[in-house]
Amino acid sequence: MHIFFEYNRKCKNSNSFDAKSIEKTTERICKYFLSLKGVYILLYLHHNLSWIGAAAEMFPLNCPNPGIEFPYLNKVISEYSHIDFAIHFSSIVTYGDEITKVLNISHEFQHVAQYNDDRKIYLYGCIIRHFLKGQIPLVEIPIEYDANRMSKIIAYDMCGKVAVKNHIQSMLSDTKIKNKEYPKNFISINIHGEFNLKDKILRLWEANEIEKKVEVLKKYSLRDVDQESVIEMYDFANK
Ligand SMILES: [Zn+2]
Repeated sequence: MHIFFEYNRKCKNSNSFDAKSIEKTTERICKYFLSLKGVYILLYLHHNLSWIGAAAEMFPLNCPNPGIEFPYLNKVISEYSHIDFAIHFSSIVTYGDEITKVLNISHEFQHVAQYNDDRKIYLYGCIIRHFLKGQIPLVEIPIEYDANRMSKIIAYDMCGKVAVKNHIQSMLSDTKIKNKEYPKNFISINIHGEFNLKDKILRLWEANEIEKKVEVLKKYSLRDVDQESVIEMYDFANK
């Protein structure tokens, strides 16, 4: 795995900015992702909170429409001769404590692994996330559950079970965190049993008639950006 780090130039204005610790933590996480040997990943760490409300976001760069436009990220990527994936981290991760870094970086690397293992299954997972948004909690969407599960396994191993449990407990009691879905779900994740991502995705795909929903969307002429992205992901997945 080849990792490149880019930091927003404003990061260094913060006292809590420590590039060395971000890079050391990432290096340790890489050891859990041996299947990603030969993959080029750019990590962009921002000094701002994300405007999409997520701590981090992963973009597979060979996919025609990775979903969201980050003009500055595109500019940074263009300065490299080859990058397979770009991951955008918000200030939550850039200035976060060790456990926050481990949980978020592992989560995003697991999305890279999902795409790398089976592109179609990963993209179907994203399409399911689009159609089932609001119907089932985001943390229960299989690609998200699987990424949280892997991040739990890695964080327990790297930071210790007790410290991670305390970290999650503090999220539950933090009044600034309004949505408690993530910590509640995290506690319930079973890291011992097997999680068959492909099976879960194909079952949801069938049960919710996603194929039909995509067909309907294809005939619809006034598609918004997200809907356009769904069509592109579907076509690319089945190419
Ligand atoms: Zn995710």
